[in-house]
Amino acid sequence: MTNTTFSNLNIVCLAGGVGGAKLADGLTQIVPPERLTIIVNTGDDFSHWGLTICPDLDTVLYTLAGVANPETGWGRAGESWRVLDEVAQLGGPDWFRLGDLDLGLHLTRRHWLHEGKSLTAVTRHLRQQFNVQCELLPMSDQPAPTLIETADEMLSFQTWFVRERWQPAVKKVHLPDDVRATPQVMPKLETADIVLIAPSNPFVSIDPILNVYPIREMVTDLPQAVIAVSPIVGGRAVKGPAAKLMQEMGLPVTAQAVADYYGDLLDGFVYDQQDPPGSVTAEGLQTLRLDTIMPTATERRRVAEQVLGFGQTVASSQ
Ligand code: GDP
Repeated sequence: MTNTTFSNLNIVCLAGGVGGAKLADGLTQIVPPERLTIIVNTGDDFSHWGLTICPDLDTVLYTLAGVANPETGWGRAGESWRVLDEVAQLGGPDWFRLGDLDLGLHLTRRHWLHEGKSLTAVTRHLRQQFNVQCELLPMSDQPAPTLIETADEMLSFQTWFVRERWQPAVKKVHLPDDVRATPQVMPKLETADIVLIAPSNPFVSIDPILNVYPIREMVTDLPQAVIAVSPIVGGRAVKGPAAKLMQEMGLPVTAQAVADYYGDLLDGFVYDQQDPPGSVTAEGLQTLRLDTIMPTATERRRVAEQVLGFGQTVASSQ
């Protein structure tokens, strides 16, 4: 059941995979679906086994559909691995783990993309099949690969993240020039009352979205309030390489550094109760401190309610 307090607000959430999916899951519990849009990073997308793999879109989709694997945070619950085992047996590339159910989605997406449908249209079909009612939009229909520069070489994102288990130190994250937002993303940002930046990786999940022209400009200028939730909790990433990336970029691994990184884009910032009160400050920035750890649907709903309540307060004070 949605919460009537939030029923007249248009909410847009910028999301990566795991952290993005959790906040999105909370939002779907309290915001009417016609008022909620999740714009998802596709900088991680890549071609594998001849298929277009969209890890963040699929993590959000599976989570909202209630079919995600709760242990891994990616892929399907109750997955089987017959195809992958056979690929390995044949000496094929098995470093990226595609389960049988997951593969069914990838084949379907490949089929529709091959027929000429856009990624946005394919995502709409897929989410409807999974009975996900809110709008789920790829940040762009153009390929927008994030590249990772290490000391020795330039790696595609998934090669660095999965095959190399994000171990090679990162010199620089490269984002593509001239990627454009879709005609579906633009009106959602034009009419957004509040834009939320999920507790996703700022460098490889959120930056790729903001890099899509003109998303950064629209987020800066249009909504009443832009609120980010910190993925850094108690000086650590809850999951994944965000903390390691910050160290390699010479940034302190703190919620404050995340707020500073987003800078003027933000009107409000939510950080975790594991960090001391008052540990995040910036001129003109309103802050909220709460328990942001969201393993289950109940916590996701609570965090979404608190974050949106804060968003309303920030919006009304602008
Ligand atoms: P990815 O694309 O799958 O890596 O996922 P995201 O970029 O969306 O999310 C990764 C970030 O989510 C990491 O930096 C984690 O610290 C953060 N994260 C994951 N779960 C939680 C949570 O429950 N609470 C908070 N605050 N952050 C989380």
